[in-house]
Parts: sequence; structure tokens; C-alpha cells
Amino acid sequence: MKYDSTNIFGQILRGEVPAFVVDEDEFTLAFMDIMPQARGHTLVIPKEPAVDIFDISEKVLARLVLQTRRIAVAVDKAFEPDGVSIVQLNRSAAGQTVFHLHFHIIPRWNRGELKQHGAIQSSSKALENNAQLIRKNLKE
Ligand code: AMP
Repeated sequence: MKYDSTNIFGQILRGEVPAFVVDEDEFTLAFMDIMPQARGHTLVIPKEPAVDIFDISEKVLARLVLQTRRIAVAVDKAFEPDGVSIVQLNRSAAGQTVFHLHFHIIPRWNRGELKQHGAIQSSSKALENNAQLIRKNLKE
């Protein structure tokens, strides 16, 4: 599949669609998933256009993975879940719905099922509060 820059994350990267941003660096952007599967569900994407993990330069993938872990540390501190899932889907058959590479960081609790994938939108207030909490726990 060829990268199509009109996808929603491409629009977020260009500032055409707002996002609840947690952090940004030269290579990556981290923001809240607006249809979280659990409180604190965060996405980390490369700025480089890439459909999936097979489509990205090794240099940026390395930065993306390191940044995903850095954000996951902050998510872990912010929400103190029992566990943290880091998930990345490639192609429709695997459940990918947005065709710009991304890592999901999903806090997990022993009690409580995950909400359905990409189904129920959270309130702006909750998303902004959660983004703020993660930002507070981010190490330089
Ligand atoms: P995937 O199925 O792995 O491609 O995941 C795409 C994710 O993007 C889903 O979890 C959606 O809830 C999320 N999503 C879709 N649109 C937006 C948006 N505008 N801002 C933030 N997250 C989004």
C-alpha cells in the first residue's frame, strides 16, 4: 500500500486537525487517542510518512521506539496501572485502521476490560486532563 497523506494522522501532523498533544520532537509526535480503550491511551507516530512498520527508515524507527518507551514511562507514572500494553498493528487484517504508522500505549488494570478499539470518543476535557497528567510526568 502506498502512503496516502490525507489520512487523519497526516492531517494532525500538518496541523489541519487538532490533537491532545503530549510531546513532540524532531522525529515524532505523541498525542491522546480520542477513542481510548482505557484511560490514558496514547499514540506515538513518526513525522516521516510511513504506512506501517515495514515502510519506515531504521533511523526514525529507532527514535520512535525510544520515544514510545519514554512516553510509556510517563503514562505508567501518571495513571499507575497494573500493566501497560504497547501495541502496533500492520494492515487491515491485523486491525490497522489508520494507515500512518503508530504505536499504542494502553494502561491496563487487573480489573476492567479494554473498551472496544476505536469506538467511543472521550470528552475533550478528559483527554486534555490526561494529556496534562502525562506531560507532568515526562522526563526531559
Ligand atoms: P489502528 O487501528 O491501530 O490503526 O488505530 C488507530 C487509532 O487511532 C484508533 O485507536 C483510533 O481511536 C485512533 N484515532 C482515530 N482518529 C483519531 C484522532 N483524530 N485523534 C486521535 N486518535 C484517533
